[in-house]
Amino acid sequence: MNLIMPKLLSTKLDETKDNKVIALIDKLTITEVLTKNEYLYILDNITSNTKKHLFNQGLLKKQIYYQNRVYLRGLIEISNYCKKGCLYCGINNKMEVERYRLDIDEIINTAKEGYNLGYRTFVIQGGEDSYYQTKMIVKMLKSIKDMFKDIRITLSLGERSYEDYQAFYDAGADRYLLRHEAASKKLYEHLHPDYMSYDNRINCLKNLKEIGYQVGAGFMVGSPTQNNEDLVEDLLFLKSLNPHMVGIGPYLCHSDTVFKGSSSGTLDETLVMVALTRLILPKTLLPSTTALGSLSPIGREKALKVGANVLMPNISPTEHRIKYEIYQDKICVTDTSDQCRNCIEGRVVMIDHEIDLGVGDALNFEGKK
Ligand code: SAH
Repeated sequence: MNLIMPKLLSTKLDETKDNKVIALIDKLTITEVLTKNEYLYILDNITSNTKKHLFNQGLLKKQIYYQNRVYLRGLIEISNYCKKGCLYCGINNKMEVERYRLDIDEIINTAKEGYNLGYRTFVIQGGEDSYYQTKMIVKMLKSIKDMFKDIRITLSLGERSYEDYQAFYDAGADRYLLRHEAASKKLYEHLHPDYMSYDNRINCLKNLKEIGYQVGAGFMVGSPTQNNEDLVEDLLFLKSLNPHMVGIGPYLCHSDTVFKGSSSGTLDETLVMVALTRLILPKTLLPSTTALGSLSPIGREKALKVGANVLMPNISPTEHRIKYEIYQDKICVTDTSDQCRNCIEGRVVMIDHEIDLGVGDALNFEGKK
């Protein structure tokens, strides 16, 4: 009797915990917000049973607003030169890697190729490369927007001044991705060198919003020393910022950085954060990130099945892709752009979703100023 009782008791306790987690997920599904302690309770006590429930709610919530549509964005990685030293990043300014950059005409031509493959949003991403002066980016944006009227341009070029962001916006940029990386200041500071400022990054996001961009924030899951309290801060921050896009991917350890030997984020932890974000911000665009696909062969499909609704196939010139190595073992680095396009299409169809090649603005975006 004595031997059986503790097991029964612990099973009962587990059931009570599971019930509480389910009740909190249901409350979140209805109210779209929880308290700090409630989020923490979910993260601390979630089990494989309750995860299934969360994932299902994430999928259903997405379907209410976006059905099974998956928006495609053509990703152009324009440069791996970077003046910043994000400690986790494989192309930070301390890394001895072969550097490359595309000139403005190459970027414009890549966008043209992408347009011919059917893409209507181009994500122009790169390290913080001083080579691209404001006027060059303005010229590039104007040329692409002159060529194509039915497109959106998303920039992801890091922290710039208010004036630069305004000039890019005036020249035709529609969206800007700038992950906050970690809403916890302490964690942010652990992941970045002293000269990088948490306050400046957050301020950039506020500036972008004020100017009128569709703004993307986001963070890595499983980054060195990150705990559940830190992740809760990310959720609270997202709710207060109400961004139009949220990029969430696992941290993937790059063995040439100071964090070599640290463990990477896991698929399940990342999926939990994607699903919770869908419940908190039902109308936001949630990319299923390349990092998820690099972590697991069907990582991106899984994210689409818990609430994500965007994929960003790489359309960068194949010869340079391997050099944009923010983490190791990145997928799609040897494929051509049309191979990526076909591969993605197949993956989406396999999970009963459908590709949407429209511009796909976020439903919580109130329109261009
Ligand atoms: N310079 C731009 C683009 C950065 S690269 C900017 O500052 O916004 C895009 C994203 O890759 C980063 O925001 C970061 O979250 C992610 N990233 C960088 N290194 C990574 C790693 N080792 N594992 C997972 N994601 C990483």
